[in-house]
Amino acid sequence: MFEISFIPAFKDNYIWLLRRGRQAVVVDPGDAGPVLARLADDGLELAGILVTHHHADHQGGIAELRARHPAPVFAPADESITGRSEPLHGGESLTLLDQVVRVLAVPGHTAGHLAYLVDDRLFCGDTLFGAGCGRLFEGTPAQMAASLDSIAALPPATLIHCAHEYTEANLRFAQAVEPDNPDIAARVAQVAQLRRAGQPSVPSTLAEELATNPFLRCRQPAVIAAARQHGAADASPVAVFAALRAWRNGF
Ligand code: ZN
Ligand code: FE
Repeated sequence: MFEISFIPAFKDNYIWLLRRGRQAVVVDPGDAGPVLARLADDGLELAGILVTHHHADHQGGIAELRARHPAPVFAPADESITGRSEPLHGGESLTLLDQVVRVLAVPGHTAGHLAYLVDDRLFCGDTLFGAGCGRLFEGTPAQMAASLDSIAALPPATLIHCAHEYTEANLRFAQAVEPDNPDIAARVAQVAQLRRAGQPSVPSTLAEELATNPFLRCRQPAVIAAARQHGAADASPVAVFAALRAWRNGF
């Protein structure tokens, strides 16, 4: 089993660190500085780098890390990634430090976006966030809706390790979509308390996301009704998703 922790980076990024003994794997090292500091502080050797997508805040630290710790770089085959040694398309199973890592293709935020499943922990980059989802920079609403459906089909106890602390702002939008959802109200209070105490709001469980994340609730009557008032062409999950995403962009 890995021990999981995170390294804060930039304003709101989480670089996840998977540790086994003295060996570590990092996910989406956008910045090398804080990763090198943690490796040195904890006496760790870097055994691998997992990359979800090509944005700079997810891969910007790779070159500097590899200059000091030559580790394999697992990353989307179809995106431009510094130092990629193991190109992936999704559907693969890897073994890293004797742990099985399943690779999922979750296009939408970017065209080649991947997520990594380790036991019951999903490292999903900028695809699913606490109470929200990534913007569609490269993919279509249909692609992103299908990617979110594939995540929604994982066991409800799955822990969602996203790459940003966006939950509070996302919950404000979730409440606008579903003002009468008591699970959202409860999560607002819970997350406010965590953030006041300087704690992360992640990882969440998939069960929590299914109950409170509007982008996973495109088949709920209340969400359909709200989306219809914000331009959804019909009640289909993709039309509802597309309207929610457009509404969120201007929220
Ligand atoms: Zn991104
Ligand atoms: Fe990002």
